[in-house]
Amino acid sequence: MSDLDVETTLNMLLREIKNIYHSELDAFYPKDEVDSFFYLVIEHYLDLERFVLALNPDLVITKTEEQPLFEALSQLRLERPIQYILGGTQFMDLELMVNENVLIPRPETEELVRWIIGDYEVSEIEEINILDIGTGSGCIAISLAKFLKNAQVKALDVSDKALEVAKQNALLNEVKVEFIQADILIDVLLKEKYDIIVSNPPYVRRLEKNKIKLNVSENEPDIALFVEDNEPLVFYQKIIEFAKTNLKKEGWLYFEINQYLGEETKALFENDFTEVVLHKDMFGNDRMLKGKLKN
Ligand code: SAM
Ligand code: GLN
Repeated sequence: MSDLDVETTLNMLLREIKNIYHSELDAFYPKDEVDSFFYLVIEHYLDLERFVLALNPDLVITKTEEQPLFEALSQLRLERPIQYILGGTQFMDLELMVNENVLIPRPETEELVRWIIGDYEVSEIEEINILDIGTGSGCIAISLAKFLKNAQVKALDVSDKALEVAKQNALLNEVKVEFIQADILIDVLLKEKYDIIVSNPPYVRRLEKNKIKLNVSENEPDIALFVEDNEPLVFYQKIIEFAKTNLKKEGWLYFEINQYLGEETKALFENDFTEVVLHKDMFGNDRMLKGKLKN
């Protein structure tokens, strides 16, 4: 046998690798999720679309091509999120880079962004000034800058490492967002006033840690997720105080909230906001809140 023949006999069929994904991962994830991992991985590393196996069931891949597929598999086996393995995800159909320094954007957060876009797409305001607090990957700020015409967006985070990712994402999506490093729990002084302040701050209580998936609590940044049990609404209280001086007259504050604290969070709006709306997400959980600053 020549060297070439040996090489050929060692090459695997792509569908064999798919079978290995199932045999290794079906104990940890639902079968259709494993299918989706496999297709995301072959698309990312081999630029192969998901229907390729249907069209060409005997597709053979080389040793070099198979290597990243097995590396991704071993990380999935350790329950590392697929978005961190691939280094990216989609949000509002935009491509975003993610790494362990930022929360992986959630579908609920897309709903929050759509709520805002729905409220403002017919707005007559010439320039909509927006501030996103706790921007993480930049998902909210960047998608608002992209889809809301006339938006002028600023975004703030305490984490320099998160801001690095968010800046890259703004470049990647060709939008102008001004990023600010600041701790919202300390008095943040910004001269400007905004039409919209939006935030998806940390809101998971430590006591809820067992309610969220292990691969979330083990892999995503603590600083993005958790608040102390005795002060679960601390970010909301601080941001409301900030909004009272930094929203324009009749400006709107939008929040993503902890589903178990809907009424309590809404109560914080009572004195200074009007037209307050608590809104459920697609799973039927209290997830979003908005209110207009009283005159
Ligand atoms: N906006 C992103 C999203 O919706 O996917 C990330 C939201 S994540 C739940 C909360 C973000 O708040 C994290 O990026 C974290 O770094 C940031 N953060 C945590 N504490 C903060 C603080 N004291 N001041 C400003 N940002 C903070
Ligand atoms: N929705 C996220 C989760 O359930 C939490 C995001 C947040 O704390 N703002 O993991």
